[in-house]
Amino acid sequence: MCVEFSYTHCQSCGMPLEDQSLLGTEIGGECSTDYCLYCYEAGEFKQPHVTFQEMVDMCVSYLQKDGVAAEEARHLLTSFLPSLKRWRKGGMLEPVIIEKEAFQIMGITARTSNADELTAQTKNSNTMVCVL
Ligand SMILES: [Zn+2]
Repeated sequence: MCVEFSYTHCQSCGMPLEDQSLLGTEIGGECSTDYCLYCYEAGEFKQPHVTFQEMVDMCVSYLQKDGVAAEEARHLLTSFLPSLKRWRKGGMLEPVIIEKEAFQIMGITARTSNADELTAQTKNSNTMVCVL
């Protein structure tokens, strides 16, 4: 069934998609190639109105469970998440502060200006806040 996925991280929360069992589902039941099962189900975001800041807060708590210090987790996420499809925005591509080190840590070497998902979800861009 679900044999290919196009990203190595969920394009909403940044979770590594190491296994296809972690993939979300589309309306027809096929696997999402972009998002994890915690973010996306049956073709819709589970939390369609979550803001960037709320997503960071959620992910910080997950990373903390993995033993990452809260401060470090927040630092990474506020740098990494804006590069993901859900949070990437045409027109306002520059998160306020980009820490080069964080990008290297997360394996990100370049950001794209690909504005292929200018949907209603992009309205969340107005709530993007950098807390660094
Ligand atoms: Zn996710």
